[in-house]
Amino acid sequence: MSTHHPTPDACIACTTCVVNCPVARATPNYLGPRLIGPAYERFRLLGLDEEKSLHYCSNCKNCDISCPHGVPVSTFNMMARADYCRTHKPTLRDWVLGHGELLAKLLRPLPAGLKNFGMLNPLTRKVLDKIGIAADAPLPAFAPARFRDRLAGTYQGMQPRKIALFPGCFIDIYDPQTGFDLVWLLNRAGYEVIIPREFSCCGLPMIANGFANDAKANAKRNLRAMQRMQEQGIPVISSCPSCVLMLNQDVPEFFPDLAQTCTPHVLDAQAFLLDCVERGELSLEPQSDFAERVVYHAPCHLRAQGGGLPGYELLRQLPNIHVENADAGCCGISGSYGFKKEKYAIGMEVGAPLFDRVRRSGAGLSSSECGTCRLQLTHGTRKPSVHPVSLLRRTLEKTA
Ligand code: SF4
Ligand code: SF4
Repeated sequence: MSTHHPTPDACIACTTCVVNCPVARATPNYLGPRLIGPAYERFRLLGLDEEKSLHYCSNCKNCDISCPHGVPVSTFNMMARADYCRTHKPTLRDWVLGHGELLAKLLRPLPAGLKNFGMLNPLTRKVLDKIGIAADAPLPAFAPARFRDRLAGTYQGMQPRKIALFPGCFIDIYDPQTGFDLVWLLNRAGYEVIIPREFSCCGLPMIANGFANDAKANAKRNLRAMQRMQEQGIPVISSCPSCVLMLNQDVPEFFPDLAQTCTPHVLDAQAFLLDCVERGELSLEPQSDFAERVVYHAPCHLRAQGGGLPGYELLRQLPNIHVENADAGCCGISGSYGFKKEKYAIGMEVGAPLFDRVRRSGAGLSSSECGTCRLQLTHGTRKPSVHPVSLLRRTLEKTA
């Protein structure tokens, strides 16, 4: 991690971030962003021991979004956690949650049924609970094969243009269908989708669980591929807002030495699709009789980028979809935070207003770009939750 720590001096102690921190609202175990971020940072600079409530920060970034003085509160917290983990060995649980991609690689020889039986059956859930993963947490199931391997064997037609996709672990390991829905749309707009072989986990789960060195190694690989794409003039997109945020904003902030060789520039896939519509490459004219009422949830990591809500905009342009923006804050999962035994109840409490909003809306389903938000939404509302690109495909694909 960088030694160029940002300075806490811009904080004027206005407490706007405290009011907007969903975790501080939900639990007294967390002393809040102002104290644990910029205020405690001054003590850290003096070499004082870490305040233990730091570990309750979920890295949802609502403090950064709301701070009128641009104080990078969540960056202080994540850097402090990385420093802490250098001298205090992280738990097995945090290693498992920080290294989903590596775990999937280690388990790859096993068939998905067996893997899922091994990971998700009640007995294993009891064992996982013992190492600190809540027995009730909505863990995702492994797909039979990785999305990128299946895509490599898929004919995409003769397309005039190429686009590189950063799939993100969620689509790659657990949810290939969403990846194929996006590929279907991009093919329709005239793009062949490639996935450079170096693309690995963006590193956000590693940072959030205290493994900064591993995140840096992944950032190096990802930047190498990104540089090659930039040299070839091939745009890079991702449909996961957390991956986009990590690659574009967090990587240069955490590892400025790496970002000197290549400035990461990943486009939001939904914004790219909107541009395709504007350029006349993609028509949003419905081709099926699919119609639905949907509540849209904007992931915190999308709002933190300040680039609007392109996925919601796409849904709003579909005449067959009646979509409302939930505008109900954080869902509470924050990547792997809500899976943790001591944080599961906090995550459910944080997400309660959103679940209530979806339940009371009368909508058949919810929609969000973030994979773990969708898991949490399904868990909290008992209604399905899908990525906006899946609703787009269901609208634009002719039904037989
Ligand atoms: S990242 Fe989220 S949980 Fe952490 S201090 Fe900021 S608002 Fe609170
Ligand atoms: S970090 Fe920003 S929002 Fe929070 S107290 Fe300081 S100035 Fe206010």
